[in-house]
Amino acid sequence: MMPRNLSGPLAGRSRISGKTPFLILIVLTVILASGCRRTPEPVRETRFMMGTLVEILVYAQGEDAANAVSRAFSRMAEIEKATSCRIPGNDVESVREGEGALFSGDAARILQTAISAAVASSGSFDPTLGELVDLWGIGTDRPRVPGEVEIRDALGRSGYQKIPESGRFPPGEKLWLDLGGVAKGFAVDEAVKVLKDSGVGAGIVDAGGDLRTFGVKPGSSPWKVGVQDPDQSRELAGILEAGEISIATSGDYQRYFEVEGVRYHHILDPATGRPARSGLKSATVLAPDCALADALATAAFVLGPERGLDLLEKRDGVEGILISEDGIYHTTSGIGTRFPFRKKQP
Ligand code: ADP
Ligand code: MG
Repeated sequence: MMPRNLSGPLAGRSRISGKTPFLILIVLTVILASGCRRTPEPVRETRFMMGTLVEILVYAQGEDAANAVSRAFSRMAEIEKATSCRIPGNDVESVREGEGALFSGDAARILQTAISAAVASSGSFDPTLGELVDLWGIGTDRPRVPGEVEIRDALGRSGYQKIPESGRFPPGEKLWLDLGGVAKGFAVDEAVKVLKDSGVGAGIVDAGGDLRTFGVKPGSSPWKVGVQDPDQSRELAGILEAGEISIATSGDYQRYFEVEGVRYHHILDPATGRPARSGLKSATVLAPDCALADALATAAFVLGPERGLDLLEKRDGVEGILISEDGIYHTTSGIGTRFPFRKKQP
């Protein structure tokens, strides 16, 4: 039997421990082991953006491929600039300052996905938690546990129902949006679009574990995507086999700080205003596009194993693997059937 070409992006993550201002980046990238058959060397480039390491790998050669990759990164940077609550001068800032804005283009599309995830999860996903996220400061060099009153006040000013359906935010009304739970996935989708439009046949865009594969990998074996073990950053919980796939993972091990042995991580439960304690360590979601996968992964993480699984099962083309604190894998019906999944041997 011919040895197969094995390659697979790992749904890896950058992790920031708030205890140290220092950034710990753990990048689990593509495993490439060549078999006898010669396949062209992929072009690969990594850049730091959207708070994480983004890797683009394409099976194409030469200057054209390198230019396509460069354009894909530029597109992602453009999206970050237009939608990040940490970058001044965009509509997110205008709305926070109560100056009013009419969302259009990328920001409007991201907001639509965010609203749809908020409605589907009954508000467990909420793109208006900017003030609360800022209070906790997780992933910054000034994380802290806020007081009850601060939390209550920030929650009082949040709520996805306050987002006008038209995307027209009137002046005088302040709302602190944080689209961080969905923007990266959207940027991955757009980067893939740029690569395809540039004539690239196959590749991977991986924004710290929000990733999408496209085309047929040389050697025609399926893409293999590693799902990170939430307990051991360099290990895999399992490997998924798929054709083209959009996948995102949310976990309590990605960004956090610790005080007296308690871990405070970056996914907040709008019901409590505190880091979600739903019994999950990680939520991995597969969806028709990466923006939706990203939003639903965050939502499922907040909802927990039962309600999270329910949310995913209800949506067409959506699958998921939820790993709970007791180490149990809760999977939707398409995992293991539509998407072969090899779980790590204990
Ligand atoms: P990451 O950004 O590490 O990939 P997620 O996609 O799960 O992880 O998004 C988490 C980010 O989304 C947080 O850093 C914060 O900006 C924002 N966020 C936190 N809690 C929520 C929530 N309940 N709903 C929507 N966004 C959230
Ligand atoms: Mg997300």
